[in-house]
Amino acid sequence: MDTATTIHHLITQGTQSLQRAGVDTPRLDAELLLADLLGVGRAYLYAHPEEEVEAGILQEWQHRLKRRMRREPLAYILGKAEFYGLEFTVTPDVLVPRPETEVLVEAVLAKQPATVADIGTGSGCIAIAIAVNLPQARVWATDISEAALRVARENAGRHGVANRIHILQGDLLQPLAGLRFDVIASNPPYVAESERLSLQPEVREWEPPHALFTGNDPLHFHRHLAAEAHFHLYEGGWLMMEVGLGQAEAVATLLEEAGYRQVRVLNDLAGIGRVVEGRYKNTSSV
Ligand code: SAM
Ligand code: GLN
Repeated sequence: MDTATTIHHLITQGTQSLQRAGVDTPRLDAELLLADLLGVGRAYLYAHPEEEVEAGILQEWQHRLKRRMRREPLAYILGKAEFYGLEFTVTPDVLVPRPETEVLVEAVLAKQPATVADIGTGSGCIAIAIAVNLPQARVWATDISEAALRVARENAGRHGVANRIHILQGDLLQPLAGLRFDVIASNPPYVAESERLSLQPEVREWEPPHALFTGNDPLHFHRHLAAEAHFHLYEGGWLMMEVGLGQAEAVATLLEEAGYRQVRVLNDLAGIGRVVEGRYKNTSSV
């Protein structure tokens, strides 16, 4: 390619292409893609709009832009996402960490637990954010997907907490046989099959289905954890779960019916009930 082109030109062209493809934040995404490719921050793009971009970069830019136009999540194209102020490696084997999940991390940190289990850890974002922010804590993380756990292990190493996180493969609480914790936290799948078509293409077509869908019962995993977690909690320990839009009340009821005390719903920044927590107290010791 011999026609020179500039940063400004690429951003304009990229924004238009992504807008036509229906991307929610076309300009931001174009900027993040180009900044990453050039190895600069976004501010650099504004400071150097007339800088020319070399042919090799141009080819890769077109390639990445096409991926995003097919609605592949930005995090998969960049291979990373930020969560709780930390950068995580992200691949199509894991859910892209969501900002609303930071509410669960905050809630767990507020309890100052010495031992935590994160069920369905995916990229490891919850378990690792907790381990980084509670240097005395020991953390267990489980997932059914070995491919996801490879990503979680890489992230634990990346943040220097691999020696305090036990990463175990298996179904829900099963890998934790014989262990008890101060907190069991989980962001389980909670999307009913019937909601599939209402999801954004980024989610519906690209994220791992087993990380999202629960079959016909959206609360399948919450139900299971509410019934079984107490076998793995110390007296006075907490079960804390993320929930989807409109699910908080039903999950709070599940916890109350299972004998949890101090059941509470925490809202996310959009005012949506996002985390439900409850405290396990053996009835015999009131
Ligand atoms: N904790 C990550 C986060 O918040 O970004 C991922 C959450 S994602 C909604 C749910 C995770 O649960 C996925 O990583 C999926 O592989 C895992 N999962 C699904 N079924 C499971 C099961 N039966 N036992 C353990 N993990 C399971
Ligand atoms: N919050 C995810 C979504 O946007 C769902 C994650 C989950 O099922 N836990 O669809």
